[in-house]
Amino acid sequence: MHEHRFKIPGRGPGITHEVLTLSFGDPTARPYVYVQAGLHADEAPGMMAARMLVDMLAKAEADGILRGHVKVVPFANPLALGQVLHGDLSGRFDLYDGRNFNRDYPDLTEDAARALQGQLGDDPQANAHAVRSALADALAQRLPVGPADTLRHHLMAQGIGADVVLDLHCDGEAEMHLYTQPAAAETFAPLAALTGCRAMLVADVSGGHPFDEALSRPWASLAARLPDHPIPLGCVSCTVELRGRADVCRDLGMQDAQAIMDYMIYLGVLEGSVDLPQLACAVTPLEGSEALTAPVAGLLSYVAALGAYVERGETVAQITDLETGAVTSVAATTSGVFYSRPATRIAEAGKRLGKIAGAVSFRDGPLLSP
Ligand SMILES: [Zn+2]
Repeated sequence: MHEHRFKIPGRGPGITHEVLTLSFGDPTARPYVYVQAGLHADEAPGMMAARMLVDMLAKAEADGILRGHVKVVPFANPLALGQVLHGDLSGRFDLYDGRNFNRDYPDLTEDAARALQGQLGDDPQANAHAVRSALADALAQRLPVGPADTLRHHLMAQGIGADVVLDLHCDGEAEMHLYTQPAAAETFAPLAALTGCRAMLVADVSGGHPFDEALSRPWASLAARLPDHPIPLGCVSCTVELRGRADVCRDLGMQDAQAIMDYMIYLGVLEGSVDLPQLACAVTPLEGSEALTAPVAGLLSYVAALGAYVERGETVAQITDLETGAVTSVAATTSGVFYSRPATRIAEAGKRLGKIAGAVSFRDGPLLSP
C-alpha cells in the first residue's frame, strides 16, 4: 500500500487541506480502478465502505492476489469536512460560493481532440493510450484557482487514467442505487447486482458536469468526433448511492466493501472467482426518474414505503397544512420503484419529495438534484 497526501492551500493563511490517496498494486498494471468517497462530505456510508475497502485491499495485496491497480480516496473532500456550521456539517455545497462539489468538472473533449489530430491509427489499444495521455495533458494544462477547483482538478487527475471509476455517495433516505451512462450499463450491472441496487439509472448527459461524467464522457465524445479511428470506451464511471445518510454501520460498510471487492474479482483486478447474484432492478432512463415535488408547504409524511413499487396515480406522500390541517396528497405520475426521499419531514413548496425509477423517459434539461 502506498500512501499519498496532496496538500491544498486553504482560503486563508495558515490553512492547508490534505487529500489522502491509498494505492494498491503495480501503478502500471491494468485494469486500474479508482474509488472515491465523501465528495459530498456529509455522506458517510461511502466513506465507511471505502475505509473498509482499504483494509481488504491491503490484505489482498499482502496475499499476492492483486493483479490490477487500485486507488482509494476514502474522504475526497477535506474542505467540506471542515464546513461545520453551528453543529451541522454542510458537505454538499461550498459555503464560499454555493457551488455543488459534484458539479462543474471540466469537459476536456475539445482540448484532447485538438491534441489527437494525426495521432490516431487503427489499433484501438494504441488509440486508447493516446486518448488517455491527451486527456491527462489537457487537464494538466488547466491551472485551478482556489481550494475547491484545486480539489476538483486533483480528483480528476487521479481518476483520469482509470479504466473503471466508482464515486461513492448517498441520498437522504434511499435504497441502494447507481447512476451511469447507457454504454456503461453492462459493465456496471454486476456491481449493481452485488451491491443489491434497487434502481440503475442511465443518461448520456445528466447535466451540471458531475465528476463521474467528466472522466468517461470525453471517450464517447471523441469516438463520435473521430469515427475514422477505433476509440474504445477507455474509462467507464458511475456514481453509487449507498442508501441513506443515516445508513451507516460497520456491518453495512463491510458488506458494501466486500461487494466492491467481489466486483474487482469480476473485473480481473483481483484473483478469484465470484458468483454474481441476479440483478434486482431494471436499467431505467434517468429521463424517466420522477422527482416528486411538494405543491404546498407543510408537514411531510409518506404513505409509500421506500423501495416499494408504486403505480402511476398512487399516493406516495401527504402534506399536512400547519394552519388549516388540510391534507394534500402527492401522487406518482409514473410507475416504478420509489427509491429515494429526503430525510426531513418539513416541506417547503417546491421541495423534492422523492424519486421514482420509471421506465418511460419524460424529462429533459438538468436531470440531477441541484
Ligand atoms: Zn452525493
